[in-house]
Amino acid sequence: MAEQLDRTRRVLVTGGGGFIGGHLVGELLRRGFRDIRSVDIKPLGRWYQEHEGVDNVSLDLREKHAAFQATEGVAYVFNLAADMGGMGFIETHKAECMLSVQINTNLLLAARDLGSERYLFASSACVYAAEHQTDPNVTALKETDAYPAMPEDGYGWEKLFSERMCRHFMEDYGLSVRVPRYHNVYGPYGTYAGGREKAPAAACRKIIEAQLNGTNEIEIWGDGQQTRSFTYIEDTVDGVLRLMESDVSEPINLGSSQLVTINRLYDIVEEIAGTRVERRYNLDAPQGVRGRNSDNALILERLGWEPAISLEDGLAKTYAWIYDQMTSGARDDAALAFTGS
Ligand code: NAD
Repeated sequence: MAEQLDRTRRVLVTGGGGFIGGHLVGELLRRGFRDIRSVDIKPLGRWYQEHEGVDNVSLDLREKHAAFQATEGVAYVFNLAADMGGMGFIETHKAECMLSVQINTNLLLAARDLGSERYLFASSACVYAAEHQTDPNVTALKETDAYPAMPEDGYGWEKLFSERMCRHFMEDYGLSVRVPRYHNVYGPYGTYAGGREKAPAAACRKIIEAQLNGTNEIEIWGDGQQTRSFTYIEDTVDGVLRLMESDVSEPINLGSSQLVTINRLYDIVEEIAGTRVERRYNLDAPQGVRGRNSDNALILERLGWEPAISLEDGLAKTYAWIYDQMTSGARDDAALAFTGS
């Protein structure tokens, strides 16, 4: 059932200097929201997108007073702030990932005490129990597969714990919560270098580098047979807003169900680039679970919707943006500017 948000009320987007947050603020503006506060720990000037007409603020939300300052007068909270990255980051920064629990805890307390009406927490497919993800020919993950709990170590445990804290803030204090579980989001205005990048952006960067420096050789993490689904940013943002304007308060998959091997991901990028490169497989590199896909039965049933943009179309736009960045001398230093790492 639709529960329309009031476009005149104040909205808070945390992690607004990051990838998904920057796109979400843009979409909120396009949909007529006029009182938007966007908060990120990164200093202004290092955000992927700084939208005009928005109250852009640099704050460390691990500090309780900062979370309260950010939430002042806010009706709708979108909490997307987290210290995170791709497999290379989350496998080697488990404590840092878990410290994001401070952000969600402070924001829940602020939303409760300052009377926010709706609260969205950005969760992840990393909450799913590893035992369901050992085979590349996966059965897609259903929401109920998160329990009995055995999530991704560090990052996934923080997401699962924070999901549950949202649930209990709803049960005990009446805070209305929404909890999308994102599945591998990609697109322009995100990180593609520096260690926090995810597979689609890394694939684009590696193939562009191999072309530009003439080596025509790339390294792939793992044997390339591991499978994933990837969700284009426009689908993610549309889904987040549909969810926020629904009455669905339990955690729900927000991900594409177009399953591909990592090798296929690289094939698509090669087709876009119009090139073929030599592949070296690094079996010692972090590679995460063996297979993962999103079961979209629940989101189809509850919202009548699922992501629609194909990997081929989404990657073409992502590749074009990364190519422009790399050939125009821009540095992907937004992630590196993050003071917590
Ligand atoms: P991102 O790293 O681009 O954005 C997160 C932002 O949070 C960053 O800009 C970072 O500076 C900010 N941040 C970190 N610590 C902060 C703090 N203490 N105070 C204020 N801001 C802080 O990542 P993203 O891809 O845009 O992810 C957004 C959210 O979605 C995160 O919660 C992430 O865990 C979740 N998620 C993303 C994906 C994905 O594939 N991108 C998948 C699952 C879940």
